[in-house]
Amino acid sequence: MKITGKINEVRNQVKEWRKEGLTVGLVPTMGYLHEGHQSLIKRAVAENDRVVVSIFVNPMQFGPTEDLESYPRDLKADSKLCEETGASLIFNPEPEEMYEDGFCSFVDMTGLTNALCGLSRPVHFRGVCTVVNKLFNIVKPDRAYFGEKDAQQLAVIKRMVKDLNMDIEIVGCPIIREADGLAKSSRNTYLGEKEREAALILSKSIFMGKKMVEDGERDAEKVKKAMRDLINTEPLADIDYVEIVDVNTMKSMEKISGEILCAIAVNIGGKARLIDNFMLMV
Ligand code: AMP
Repeated sequence: MKITGKINEVRNQVKEWRKEGLTVGLVPTMGYLHEGHQSLIKRAVAENDRVVVSIFVNPMQFGPTEDLESYPRDLKADSKLCEETGASLIFNPEPEEMYEDGFCSFVDMTGLTNALCGLSRPVHFRGVCTVVNKLFNIVKPDRAYFGEKDAQQLAVIKRMVKDLNMDIEIVGCPIIREADGLAKSSRNTYLGEKEREAALILSKSIFMGKKMVEDGERDAEKVKKAMRDLINTEPLADIDYVEIVDVNTMKSMEKISGEILCAIAVNIGGKARLIDNFMLMV
């Protein structure tokens, strides 16, 4: 497995593979890899001849008060995980390689991004769409893999690919959780012992909400209220949002029907803003 921070080297390597008629999968990440990322890499390895994992903490998708500086990094451990999982190339550029002096072109989106995380993180999806577009242009993969953990991001990327006629298959992969239910996240590392315990309230409320809908509840407000009430029993939890939306439009709904996304964002002890969700077809 190779590691490079240079766009040209990625391009040359992918050209070589193409000459041999090989297919290429891309897994975009911000590193500090865990089993959630690994599930994406495994799937990519199973479905492509070669897999590129990008590791880039993208400054453009962080707001001015967010955790860009403190975001965890460990290239050595990440390389080991990628190699063991069968990736062929890690692309870990410096910000200067991705954003040269004078950079001023962006991929922006309306609609889908004016909901959920887009409301509390106003610059986030512009940064995500721009960097993913750049990664697609650099790697030119056949398929790219994204986690349902970031369900809005997955919907946004699928829409961008459709709207801008990108010839790339977007593959969504299920949420990987800790044994006790907490969705795996690089940001879980911000949690101390007390906060780690408190963070369980996210998955508990997700499982409860999902059961309510599966058992036939169709009043979105009732489900959201039950979830909010449960989360509020945890003193360290501070709700950003609890929402039920149409997964294709991100529009809030009163009566639960169709392809739904129930998504939550909760701040735990002022240490970490965590997200979780469930998706159902009802
Ligand atoms: P990140 O490094 O947090 O930007 O995540 C990179 C990719 O891994 C994104 O597509 C995420 O949705 C995905 N991912 C992160 N955590 C998980 C998880 N627990 N289960 C499945 N996918 C995940």
